[in-house]
Amino acid sequence: MLTLTPTNDPMGAAIADYWKHGKAARLQVFSSQFDEDEIPVRELFRTDKQMPLLERTALQLATGRVLDVGAGSGCHSLTLQERGLEVEAIDISPLSVQVMLERGVKNARLVNLFDEQFVGKYDTILMLMNGSGIIGKIEKLPQFFQKMKLLLNPGGRILMDSSDLRYLFEEEDGSFSIDLADGYYGEVDFRMKYKNVEGESFDWLYIDFNTLSYYAAESGFKAELVKEGKHYDYLACLHL
Ligand code: SAH
Repeated sequence: MLTLTPTNDPMGAAIADYWKHGKAARLQVFSSQFDEDEIPVRELFRTDKQMPLLERTALQLATGRVLDVGAGSGCHSLTLQERGLEVEAIDISPLSVQVMLERGVKNARLVNLFDEQFVGKYDTILMLMNGSGIIGKIEKLPQFFQKMKLLLNPGGRILMDSSDLRYLFEEEDGSFSIDLADGYYGEVDFRMKYKNVEGESFDWLYIDFNTLSYYAAESGFKAELVKEGKHYDYLACLHL
């Protein structure tokens, strides 16, 4: 299935509630690898001043026609639109797309990045809030870069943030206990729940910069480390 419906879109339900009522219930996150967690829904509505430095840096680097992939509540799209950039926001969540339109995102569409029907040409492709997540699995990176080739104008670039999850496997003596037979350590699964709306389990990729650079090069892309965050997180710029 390429897009969600309101009955299996917990994050969209949370975003819609917060937009309508100024508050939301708990957006719960489950994973086979981690303890139960929650996403603070308020933070999905962050203003540019409330954004982490990596995201503010990405927004400063955005130029030309921008594609905001997995735009959520539209926080990045709105900031760029206010700065006069032409932005297209896509998301697989119908409820989020509805909220974006109501908040004033001029061009918000219910589209899956990987949908073959989705075409367009952009100078900047934004993928933020662990933007590599949408790729899902390492094995999907070649397909992702193929799609990027179709969507990028000459000279265009992808601005993506991610994290190296190796710290989760670090022992007290500084060594790492990563079981290579388990596949790449940044491949995780999540499932979300909001009130009585339960989503399906989905794959989410965290990727370290070296692995990203390796796969980028295999597809003819260069990866640059723009900025590192405080906790194994970073912003990368990818271009042909
Ligand atoms: N970028 C936003 C939201 C991040 S959450 C922010 O920083 O606040 C990730 C978003 O990506 C969700 O809204 C989810 O619905 C969307 N998404 C997941 N897979 C997608 C895909 N294949 N194509 C487009 N959007 C996707």
